[in-house]
Order: sequence, then C-alpha cells, then structure tokens
Amino acid sequence: MYLDKYRLHGRTAFITGAGRGIGLAAAHAFSEAGARVVISDHSETLLAEGLATLRAAGRDAHAVVLDVTRADDVKRAADEADTGFGGIDILFANAGIAWPDTGGEDMTDEVWRRMIDVNLNGVFWCCRSFGAYMLARGRGSIITTGSMSGLISNRPQRQAHYNAAKAGVHHLSRSLAGEWAARGVRVNSIAPGYIDTTMSGGGLRTEGLGPVWLEATPMRRAGTAEEIASVALFLASDASSLLTGSVIVADAGYCVW
Ligand code: NDP
Repeated sequence: MYLDKYRLHGRTAFITGAGRGIGLAAAHAFSEAGARVVISDHSETLLAEGLATLRAAGRDAHAVVLDVTRADDVKRAADEADTGFGGIDILFANAGIAWPDTGGEDMTDEVWRRMIDVNLNGVFWCCRSFGAYMLARGRGSIITTGSMSGLISNRPQRQAHYNAAKAGVHHLSRSLAGEWAARGVRVNSIAPGYIDTTMSGGGLRTEGLGPVWLEATPMRRAGTAEEIASVALFLASDASSLLTGSVIVADAGYCVW
C-alpha cells in the first residue's frame, strides 16, 4: 500500500538541466519508478550522453534541447510535450547555475541578470507553460530546485545573486502552490546543501572554502545527486500527496548548525 504510492507508471516527467547532475539522477529515479522521462538541457552534447545512460538502463527516455531562459522556447517545449507525449504529469524545474561568486559591491549588471535569468526566470517560464497544461487537466506535480542558499546567506561564499534567486524560487513555488492547489496541481521545492556534482566542483573540496563548509556541515559530508533525486521522487509521487508549498531541506544539517 505504501510502496505503491511511489510508483509513477503511466506518468511522464519533464526535467530541466538534466544532462548531468541532480537532473539526470532524478531522470533515473523517476524512470526506475515507472515514468516515461523527457530530459532537457541547453547542452546538446550533455543531453546525448545523459540519454545514453538512460537508454542503456532500458528506460523509456527522450531528450529535448532547451535553454530555460528563452520563454518562447519553453512554451514551445510545453506545447510539443502536450501533443507529442500526451501531456506532462511531473515537471522538475531544476536547471541552474551557481558561478561566478562576486561580492555585492563588484557585481556587474551582466552577472546579476544572468543569475536571475537562469535560476529564477527560467523556473517561472517552465512553471507557467507546463503548469497551464496541468491546470487544464486538473492534475500535476511540479518540483523546483531551490537551495539552502535561499534560506541562509551562506556568507563566506559571497553569492548575493544566487541566494536571492534561490529564495525567489522557494517563494515562487509557495505562491503558485497556493494558487493552484484547489485545481489539482502541487508545487514543492527542494533546498539542497552541498551536493557532489560538477556545479560544486565535486562537493566539499579540500581546497578553497571546502574545509570551512565541511566544518559547518553536521554530517561532515556532501550529499549525492541520487540523494536529492530520492527527495524529488517523493515529491513527484503520490507518496507526497498532502504536500504543496513545501520546501524540503536536504543539506546534511548545514542550516541547523
Ligand atoms: P550541474 O551543473 O551538474 O547540472 C545543471 C545542468 O543545468 C547543467 O547541465 C547545466 O549546463 C544546465 N543548465 C545551465 N543553464 C541552463 C539553461 N539556461 N537552460 C538549460 N540548462 C541549463 O548542477 P547540479 O546538478 O548540481 O544542480 C542542479 C540544480 O541544483 C541547480 O538549480 C543548482 O542551483 C541546484 N543546487 C545544487 C547544489 C550543489 O551543491 N550541487 C546545491 C544547491 C542547489 P552548464 O554546464 O552549461 O551550466
């Protein structure tokens, strides 16, 4: 009875930023649970490599090149997914960037705008376009990738742009959750801590700020992409049927320190 709630048979999931890292791990988790998965990324090469790992595992997987900052392309992808795949049941709006780190006083317009464009605007374009089809069908689960940096300022890292964008993702998700709950669409967010992916340069590195982060992490380790994918699977599935507007913090205890 309980395990069945995690199964995603008959559902289709669309995942952004899924050429590697957390997005690709989530594609493996969703497809292992029975979903058809559509992975997307702005890098065609990464996408092809990611798709190959899913196909090698015998998954029902497809790939769409998509830059989430292009609102028109996002809308087109949602339109095509609706006709081509018979609708999207799960959206994992996960694509993001984290660099460069820049102190607020030195932040250029270009660096600020790019961060907001990918990490906040991109999430909204996806929620809006895919959410419209979910609302029309009266069902759907949207998961966004925020960050523990959307909850705390993580001061040593000097990332006001990243922190602001991720706090925006959490509140955007909560706001849409409130708007859409009565119409069958749930919206939840994940706030990962340091995760061992390309973005973090391999998690808690030994050089630079690595030792500072490690000391501040109660579990004394970085997380894995698969550990975040497990949270995404929970939120995608009926196992989380009562959750909407939630921000699940998965950070090895960093925020409670
Ligand atoms: P990765 O860099 O490994 O994967 C992210 C993927 O998204 C990359 O392939 C990246 O391509 C792609 N991407 C970047 N910009 C766009 C865009 N405009 N349109 C489509 N795809 C794009 O990162 P993670 O898997 O670690 O991160 C996934 C999410 O998790 C992000 O939102 C990140 O902010 C968040 N997160 C990660 C943490 C960590 O420690 N790793 C901690 C907290 C949150 P490219 O290589 O070109 O950038």
